[in-house]
Amino acid sequence: MDSRYVAEPYRIKVVEPIAVTTRAERQRYLVEAGYNTFLLRSDQVYIDLLTDSGTTAMSDNQWAGMMLGDEAYAGSRNFVHLQEVVREYHGFKHVVPTHQGRGAENLLSMICIKPGDYVPGNMYFTTTRAHQERNGAKFVDIIVDEAHDSQAELPFKGDVDLTKLQRLIDEVGADRIPYVCVAVTVNLAGGQPVSMANLRAVYELCSRHGIKVMFDATRCVENAYFIKTRERGYERKSIRDILKEMMSYADGCTMSGKKDCLVNIGGFLCMNDDRLYQQACELVVLFEGMPSYGGLAGRDMEAMARGIVESVDFHYIQHRVAQCAYLADRLKAGGVPLVRPTGGHAVFIDARAFLPHVPQDHFPAQALAAELYLESGVRSMERGIVSAGRNTETGENHRPKLELVRLTIPRRVYTYSHLDVVAESAIELFRRRDAIKGLRMVYEPQLLRFFTARFTPRGIDAAQVNRPAGGCSSQRDAVTEVETEVIG
Ligand SMILES: *Cc1c(COP(=O)(O)O)cnc(C)c1O
Repeated sequence: MDSRYVAEPYRIKVVEPIAVTTRAERQRYLVEAGYNTFLLRSDQVYIDLLTDSGTTAMSDNQWAGMMLGDEAYAGSRNFVHLQEVVREYHGFKHVVPTHQGRGAENLLSMICIKPGDYVPGNMYFTTTRAHQERNGAKFVDIIVDEAHDSQAELPFKGDVDLTKLQRLIDEVGADRIPYVCVAVTVNLAGGQPVSMANLRAVYELCSRHGIKVMFDATRCVENAYFIKTRERGYERKSIRDILKEMMSYADGCTMSGKKDCLVNIGGFLCMNDDRLYQQACELVVLFEGMPSYGGLAGRDMEAMARGIVESVDFHYIQHRVAQCAYLADRLKAGGVPLVRPTGGHAVFIDARAFLPHVPQDHFPAQALAAELYLESGVRSMERGIVSAGRNTETGENHRPKLELVRLTIPRRVYTYSHLDVVAESAIELFRRRDAIKGLRMVYEPQLLRFFTARFTPRGIDAAQVNRPAGGCSSQRDAVTEVETEVIG
């Protein structure tokens, strides 16, 4: 194998059998799921690339830490450990644990935002923006233009456009910008990183105007790896040192531990400011729990502290990013059109280019995700017109430029052989793409329809289609209530 694709820097101690199914079985499951991969049961899936959120395999050291959970209501020693690790690895003075990333976003937005404020960011993330808007702020996109072009090859496509930021400050005034939110890396741009030079420049510009910089640090280790491998002057620095320098250009951060901290649940909010910390401590009691556990068990905090230490290991992160590159390279070699360049957590198939004969109203990405499952039991996610939903005022479908199928790689879970299966089945579909037809939506929930919408292949009478199976309607209610729920 090509040396770029480094072998797994771990060996397997515990295994979890996965479902090996026949095509006939998958056909039945797919009909039952209304051609929506979200409605498949996990035990009907062979390789699950729905998301990298909370799907990590923990290490033996993390599992050992789970047994050392101190479940005292206050002052758990695992909190003390987490605090030590965050201070050492991220360099922030204060840490407030939360049940996951959006818990931290809720606290930050409530504390810092006044109605009428503006929060600039390098592209939005769903839960992040929803919390900002809920507290009365307007989100302003200040990412470089190229980030919106799926084919622009840039090493740091997540960079902030400093001119856009300066223009906003000039227009609305610094006192109406409580903080700038910088995501490292940018999930919705395809996992694109931000350069150290850009982080430094944003921090300098904001400091001059007295504006805080808060990172969405969810995939900060992947970002550090891209800096090491792409930015001059960082080739010989350790991931740990790069991470610490990155974080020195922020006043705090929100973190979803379910991604780069290598745990299945958890998150936290960090800051250097004592007054901000005081306010966060007051609010966290209301929404999450005591400031020393924030909705987490002691054992969860221990696993997260250990996960942070493991995540900056060069061999771990090199392998993770290499897995994404490997899958992308194999797909590219087979002619499959992709979003470029490949980021740190997923590979995105361009379903418009893959199925040019399927109009957007026939849901090309949804159809492709369904076909991929049928072909090989691989579960992916639609990120196109179904996910985009409708304009709440006009009722018209949003028509996103990008019609994508996301193949998201869980951390330390699958091997290159699994990725071969994914690549080969996608390439096989590409060979017979002319025969792939679009879908018709036969059930459309009002909010966040992608979770529970149901489809049928074009050409089949809608009356023959199964109605939602047991469990779906209650699931739908749960989803419609939580407007901001999203899959990371
Ligand atoms: C997942 C994610 C979040 C939200 O974190 P949760 O732990 O899912 O609440 C925020 N920002 C980004 C970039 C994410 O990927």
